[in-house]
Amino acid sequence: MMKKLIALTVLALAVPGCSRGGTVSVIFKGVTQPTSIAKDTRAPSFRCPACGVELKDFNAQKCPEKACQAKLTWPDEVKCGYCGGTGNCPTCAMMKQVDGKCYNCSGSGTLVLGEAAGVPIGQTRACPNCQQTGKCATCGKQGAVPSKCDYCQGGKVNMGLLKQKAAAEKKAE
Ligand SMILES: [Zn+2]
Ligand SMILES: [Zn+2]
Ligand SMILES: [Zn+2]
Ligand SMILES: [Zn+2]
Repeated sequence: MMKKLIALTVLALAVPGCSRGGTVSVIFKGVTQPTSIAKDTRAPSFRCPACGVELKDFNAQKCPEKACQAKLTWPDEVKCGYCGGTGNCPTCAMMKQVDGKCYNCSGSGTLVLGEAAGVPIGQTRACPNCQQTGKCATCGKQGAVPSKCDYCQGGKVNMGLLKQKAAAEKKAE
């Protein structure tokens, strides 16, 4: 990343009058849901690297701002903002869950009621966070990989996927 920035700067210096431009920045708005009750508010958005205006056209080659007109380069993939590029499940990190186990029931799926002095009286009920699966609200979902960030599953997100998510968000507004 640093290397790329330096290379771009050198290039800009070497070619006087070359128009401004750069790599589109991705803003990772919202957070991964900490519990199953909380809403998933994640929605990426794209910004012009020169003036910071939000880009509504995901194929724009140039900044739409009249005063800016910076040349835009869309990266193929970017570091995932929800897990900070670690690829680890943000919900597990927030709730201190180990091995993708639900924080509320420690993975058992049930809560024991009326526990007195460490001795369970025996009444149990389904854990409201995991609905008895015993799994994390995020990485325990169907199709997700346990303990991995469900958004990137490895620290990096494909730009095509980000555009899809951003487009879905626009429609929902
Ligand atoms: Zn701009
Ligand atoms: Zn991630
Ligand atoms: Zn998780
Ligand atoms: Zn649970």
